[in-house]
Amino acid sequence: MLPRIWYSPAYDLEWDGHVFPAGKYRATRDRLLADGVIAAADLGKSELLDRGSLLCGHTVDYLDRLEAMTATPQLGYYEFEAPCSRRVLDGFYAMAGGTLAACRAALERTEPGCVGFAANLGGGFHHAFPWKGEGFCAINDIVVAIRVLLTEGAIERAAVVDLDVHQGNGTAKAFEDEERVFTMSMHQQNNYPVKQRSDLDVGLPDKCEDARYLDELARALPVVQEAQPDLVLYVAGADPFHRDQLGGLSLTLDGMAGRDARVYEAFLGGGVPVVGTLAGGYSADEKDVVEIHYRMVREGLEASAAIGR
Ligand SMILES: [Zn+2]
Repeated sequence: MLPRIWYSPAYDLEWDGHVFPAGKYRATRDRLLADGVIAAADLGKSELLDRGSLLCGHTVDYLDRLEAMTATPQLGYYEFEAPCSRRVLDGFYAMAGGTLAACRAALERTEPGCVGFAANLGGGFHHAFPWKGEGFCAINDIVVAIRVLLTEGAIERAAVVDLDVHQGNGTAKAFEDEERVFTMSMHQQNNYPVKQRSDLDVGLPDKCEDARYLDELARALPVVQEAQPDLVLYVAGADPFHRDQLGGLSLTLDGMAGRDARVYEAFLGGGVPVVGTLAGGYSADEKDVVEIHYRMVREGLEASAAIGR
């Protein structure tokens, strides 16, 4: 059996001073281990994804451009608003490996009476397009993982449930003409990025609070269920939280946990495996971000275990 939770020290992007708190990856892992939510045996080490797999989601020209950028890391700022050193690029390759491995683990654990939940303690880089990076995202691990699994025949259909505060524009564009993949994004309408068209977009008003958010989510999830995915990739950004510096919604910690619970109820409860990825999160206090990611993983494992009992 594959481990359910995926991580690598390579995730520690050296983005010191950048608004993206890359230290959250290690901190989330440490918290899960310290609280006994996971044991060392539950933790897999993500490998750098090979170029052939990366090419399932990105063009040759773009991957070559990223490699060339490692010689002049500042060029990354022009492409995706963060430096692109060797270390950073390997971090993105490792997180793409982690998302794919988590998908395999969730599928492996799904059989009659049992439904798999797995998570990558990284990933969720939904602003990267097949041919370009954007918004701190170099490699779209969500797109790459789904494309690899479809190509292998491991799944016939997939859905992306993207609840980061920013629209999943790169993912939406990549799957625009792909009938086997249903993309759903629920986000703050009046915020970055320039929107692309998902199969279902729910644009929320500024300062949207828990009750309205959870109502909208309850209306949206059945639409995704109708697509009958074999696997759901959950882009669980921490940035709808009210203290987020790059988000303008007003969710509390309880609202964030309620969001996760509804996703698990809709899919794990219906026998569909779910893979969680961390995506964004920019509270000035990194502890908020880690708390939200930590709960997402803990609740997913508990929901999956409750169904297996
Ligand atoms: Zn975001």
